[in-house]
Amino acid sequence: MEDSIFMKIVRKEIPAQILYEDDETLAFLDTEPNATGHTLVIPKSPAHDIFDIDEKSWLAVMKTVRMLAPHIRDTTGAAGMTLAMNNGIASDQTVFHPHVHLIPRHHDDEFGYELWKHHPYQEGEMAKLATRIRTNLS
Ligand code: 5GP
Repeated sequence: MEDSIFMKIVRKEIPAQILYEDDETLAFLDTEPNATGHTLVIPKSPAHDIFDIDEKSWLAVMKTVRMLAPHIRDTTGAAGMTLAMNNGIASDQTVFHPHVHLIPRHHDDEFGYELWKHHPYQEGEMAKLATRIRTNLS
């Protein structure tokens, strides 16, 4: 698997402001933050995104996110937090190692998904799509 910059951070080959580390996960400050305290939580094992991460690593990432979130909120004086994860070029992922963004939010801050527009379903389309996805699950 091609090495990513985040694997270099895991191996401590390049510096990062690490906030937390355990056997399976690492959390560090994003160098181009959308808000003060913008943090990335990653698995230590190599993978690209949500589509190929193993379940154990993903659950470990979620555990670390949940543990860290209130501490980052309280330390930064934030009022809330947006969790985000890009998966694949189509979603603007730029580093191809799974990472969850923890972005502290403040009332009336300027953070926003400008492109997050709504695309309404045609009549009947929603139920048909749900059926197709459920079918693929089984
Ligand atoms: P993506 O666009 O893939 O969802 O997010 C990648 C994130 O990684 C960006 O927010 C970017 O600022 C951050 N990033 C990229 N390279 C580095 C780095 O070397 N160190 C740290 N701490 N963050 C990085």
